[in-house]
Amino acid sequence: MVIKNDKEEIQSFLTDASNFKGECDAVYFPENAEEVKEILIRTLAENKRVTVAGNGTGLTGARVPKEGIVISTEKLNRIIEINEKEFYAFVEPGVILSDLQGRLDELNLFYPPDPTETNCFIGGTVAANASGAKTFKYGPTRNYIAELEIILPDGETLNLKRGFVKADGLKLSLKSESGKEYNLMLPDFKMPDVKNASGFFIKPDMDAIDLFIGSEGSLGVITKIKLKLLAKPGAIISCVVFFEDENRGLDFIEEGRTVSFKNKNQENKIEARALEYFDDNSLRFLAPDFPNIPEGAKAAVWFEQEAGEENEDELLEQWIEIIQKCGGNEELVWFAVNEKDREDIHKFRHAISLKVNEYIARNNYRKLGTDVAVPDDQFREFFFWCGKTVRDENIDYVAYGHFGNSHIHLNMLPDSQDKFEKGKYLYKKICQKAVELKGTISAEHGVGKIKADYLIEMYGEEVVRQMGRVKKVFDPQLILGIGNVVREDLL
Ligand SMILES: Cc1cc2nc3c(=O)[nH]c(=O)nc-3n(C[C@H](O)[C@H](O)[C@H](O)COP(=O)(O)OP(=O)(O)OC[C@H]3O[C@@H](n4cnc5c(N)ncnc54)[C@H](O)[C@@H]3O)c2cc1C
Repeated sequence: MVIKNDKEEIQSFLTDASNFKGECDAVYFPENAEEVKEILIRTLAENKRVTVAGNGTGLTGARVPKEGIVISTEKLNRIIEINEKEFYAFVEPGVILSDLQGRLDELNLFYPPDPTETNCFIGGTVAANASGAKTFKYGPTRNYIAELEIILPDGETLNLKRGFVKADGLKLSLKSESGKEYNLMLPDFKMPDVKNASGFFIKPDMDAIDLFIGSEGSLGVITKIKLKLLAKPGAIISCVVFFEDENRGLDFIEEGRTVSFKNKNQENKIEARALEYFDDNSLRFLAPDFPNIPEGAKAAVWFEQEAGEENEDELLEQWIEIIQKCGGNEELVWFAVNEKDREDIHKFRHAISLKVNEYIARNNYRKLGTDVAVPDDQFREFFFWCGKTVRDENIDYVAYGHFGNSHIHLNMLPDSQDKFEKGKYLYKKICQKAVELKGTISAEHGVGKIKADYLIEMYGEEVVRQMGRVKKVFDPQLILGIGNVVREDLL
């Protein structure tokens, strides 16, 4: 097994896409589950700390070590099996999402989870319960995870199959492959009724596998994953619609959402699979790279619709009606007529996230990008409140994201330390407001280290301590992913 401890060589493991910084002694590159087990047993014996790394595209500092060693999953990168008849795949965690998507595409298969950054590892997406544009129709990664192999901090192996081990109310008992038992009492709280990736997934009578999905490398190391697959949809209608007024853009989001929910799974009726928004600032931020953004546009919505050859025109007609009803200019719509156009639209969506990350890295600030979601009926007012709150402090920002899910990425672009400090305060204020409206502090990126304080704002200290107790059942010596999800002083 390769082990690196040269400072230069391990530098990239000391940060992630949030620009959060850390320290470690060495990075281990296991090539199979047995080697992961050996590392954990040795680390436990030496009482060192260990952090699991995916591909470092996370936005919460979750894969960034504070000390000890890192387990890189990059050599656990085999696609073990793709079963075309029974619609599943077995993969190791270090498989790059876009590589898997490419393989599946050739086989006319489809795996819906699609975080905007597809250079992530499948293991990272499971550990973060990642979402993306298609989550609007298909839900988060969780919905496509059928089985997990997990190596616990004590070196024991858990094999969890969906539907096989369930909690009895809030009591959950698990058995490792060697027969070791883990008995835990799940925290007693209710998750908000919005898209949510804040803290451990907990529900009475829940499936045990769901505790590990979204646990952000704090309960065990995922070494094998069985994914559920779907048949590839026939054709995809992909459009970006521009509006001269933000309220019109939001009308389109609301109308598209309402119609999609009403028409769910009905043939020949429109149902968006993605419904994404760009505010006025985002369009101006992107304009130097996309000079074809129409002049006077103050908002844009990108939507995708699945279709077959036989009903493509009919579905497009239905969308045009909504565009007209909401005051979009149908002459200025970007309409993808082939695969290349569709990729260009994806690049446009990806560019906004990427440019924000480049800005913060260039100016050496930590990312101040919200990942909050609120109930649909609160969203419009919340969106305008967030913008005003940041503008009042003269901080530049862009606001965009998964508005179909009432989920906003408002990214502040501070240009001085003073504004960065103010931005941190505003970030907290926005999280508090989202919680007040019965929403979440993180709808998809997770909590990691950066948002551990806000998780306490959301659920209260006692619930977070209870999450810590769940962790301690698997990791009593506190060696794995310390500081992720549960703040260290609450463990
Ligand atoms: C431009 C850009 C756009 C993005 N857009 C989205 C988006 O739309 N939706 C979204 O959800 N996210 C988005 N992200 C965030 C990121 O891509 C996802 O969180 C992704 O799931 C992280 O995967 P990774 O392999 O890079 O994981 P890392 O960042 O390396 O790690 C993430 C977490 O997973 C844990 N982990 C990794 N592998 C394992 C394993 N095998 N076992 C246990 N724990 C493990 C780590 O310890 C850490 O806690 C975006 C990021 C960027 C840079």
